[in-house]
Amino acid sequence: MADSNAVRSQRKRLHAAGDHGMCRPERCREAGRRLEPVVPAGSIDSVAELEHLARRLIAVTVADPVNTQAARALAEVLRALPPAQGEPDPVERLQQEVAAIKALHTPANVAAIRPAGRSDRHE
Ligand SMILES: [Zn+2]
Repeated sequence: MADSNAVRSQRKRLHAAGDHGMCRPERCREAGRRLEPVVPAGSIDSVAELEHLARRLIAVTVADPVNTQAARALAEVLRALPPAQGEPDPVERLQQEVAAIKALHTPANVAAIRPAGRSDRHE
């Protein structure tokens, strides 16, 4: 009986990822060779893995600038990465800048920066 489309597409995906556990010996020289996990279960440092993946994708996009698939994957990985240590979240930083500008917006400061000749003060 022929394999279903789902089985074929899973085999194709695994083969492309280097796992040949589902490959047929007549179609793949490496059939049967499974991809063994290199990190023991439960000890994955997701940030370190994302950074490692980002570095690999950067290398791919530098070597092959027209590889839009790698560029999209890189953008996705970079969005998933938390901000670097000591580097504030961009939204938080923007909110702090807005708060600082609002703090400067006192009536005295507004009067001081009002263009000359347009003062509504009566002297
Ligand atoms: Zn294979």
